[in-house]
Amino acid sequence: MKLETLAVHTAMEPDPLTGAVSPPIHLSTTFARHPDGVPVGGYVYARESNPTQDLLEKAICDLEGGQRALVFGSGMAAGLSLLQALEPGSTVLFPPDIYHGFRKAAQELLPKWGLTVKTVSFQDLSRLQEVLTAGVRLVWMETPSNPLLEITALSEVIGLARTAGALVCVDNTFATPVLQRPLDLGADISLHATTKAFGGHSDVMGGALVFRDPLLAEHVCETRTLNGAIASPFASWLILRGIRTLPMRVEAQSRNAQAIAEFLAVHPAVSRVFYPGLPSHPGHQIAKRQMRLFGGIVSFRLADGKERALRAVSRVKVFIRATSLGGVESLIEHRASSEGPGTMTPEDLVRLSLGIEHHEDLIADLEQALA
Ligand SMILES: *Cc1c(COP(=O)(O)O)cnc(C)c1O
Repeated sequence: MKLETLAVHTAMEPDPLTGAVSPPIHLSTTFARHPDGVPVGGYVYARESNPTQDLLEKAICDLEGGQRALVFGSGMAAGLSLLQALEPGSTVLFPPDIYHGFRKAAQELLPKWGLTVKTVSFQDLSRLQEVLTAGVRLVWMETPSNPLLEITALSEVIGLARTAGALVCVDNTFATPVLQRPLDLGADISLHATTKAFGGHSDVMGGALVFRDPLLAEHVCETRTLNGAIASPFASWLILRGIRTLPMRVEAQSRNAQAIAEFLAVHPAVSRVFYPGLPSHPGHQIAKRQMRLFGGIVSFRLADGKERALRAVSRVKVFIRATSLGGVESLIEHRASSEGPGTMTPEDLVRLSLGIEHHEDLIADLEQALA
C-alpha cells in the first residue's frame, strides 16, 4: 500500500463490540482477570500497555516499516528511555547540531547514568570512522537537523556505524516517514517527537521509537514500564487521528516551505537561507536522494543582525510567534531566545515552521515584516 492509504487504514479495524469506525479511548488504568487469574484481554496495568496506545504503536510501526514501535509521553521521554536502557559504560556519539533538549541531556544527564558522550561532525566521514573504531554503542543522527537544517548522508553513516557494531538511532521528527524512512536504509531505531507533525495540531505531546529488532524494543519497553514514560490513552488517540492526514499535511507544509525559501533566498534583508530544497544548500543532492520532499522548516539569517531578526519576528500578522513545529498553523521564532543560555544558534537566525495556509498569504506577511 502507498503511504497515503496506509495512514488512513492502519489500526482502523471497526470496534468488534460496537462497530464504531473511530476507535474508542480506553481510559482504564487496570484490567480484569478470569477466575484462574488470566487477564481477560491480555492487559494488566496501563503503565505497561493499554489498548488505545497499542493502536497508535501499530500505526507508527507500519508507517516507518519497523518490527515494533513504542510510544511515550513526549519526544524527550522517547529518546531518554532509549538512552536509559543502554548499559552504563556505553559510549554515545552525537553530531553537533541536534535538538537542544537532547544536547542538554547529553551534557547533564548521560554522564550521571554512566554513559560517555562524544561529539563529532558527521559531515567528515573519515573522522567519524576514526571515532567509531574506538568503540561506540549508539550513533545518534538527526537529518534535517534543528535548527540549521544540516543534511547527513544516512546510508553512508549508517553503513560505517553498523560495520563498527554500533546501533543507529535517527531522530526523524523533521522528515516524518512521509519524506524519509531511516529503517529502510539500515537504521536500528527511528525516533519521533509525535508532538510535532504526527499530532499536527499543536494540541498533544507524544514521542515514539520504532525498532527493527523486537528484542531491543522489548528491552526499552521494560525501561518505559519502570520509568513511567508511557503515552496517555487520550494523547495516543489524538496522535492516531493526526496520522490519518499526516501525508497530506506534510506535503502541503513542504510545498509552502519551498516557496518561502525561494522567496527569502533573493530577499535583500536576508543574508542566508537554510533549506535543503534549495539547490544552493550544501546537502541538497543528498537530501534529494534520501527524502521525498524537503520538509516544513526553514531557517534564515538577517543581514543586519539580531535587532533586525527580533524586529521581523515582532511584526508578523499571519505567522504566530511561538516555538515548536509541524502544526497546521505557521510559526515563527527567534531560535536563540527559545533555546536560552548556552545556545549555539546564531543570534540573527529566525526559524519558521510552515503550516498549511496558502503560501501567498505567508509570503505577503514576511514581505511586510522584513520591509
Ligand atoms: C520537539 C523535538 C523533540 C522533543 O520532543 P518533545 O515532544 O518536545 O519532548 C526532539 N527532537 C526534535 C527534532 C524535535 O523537534
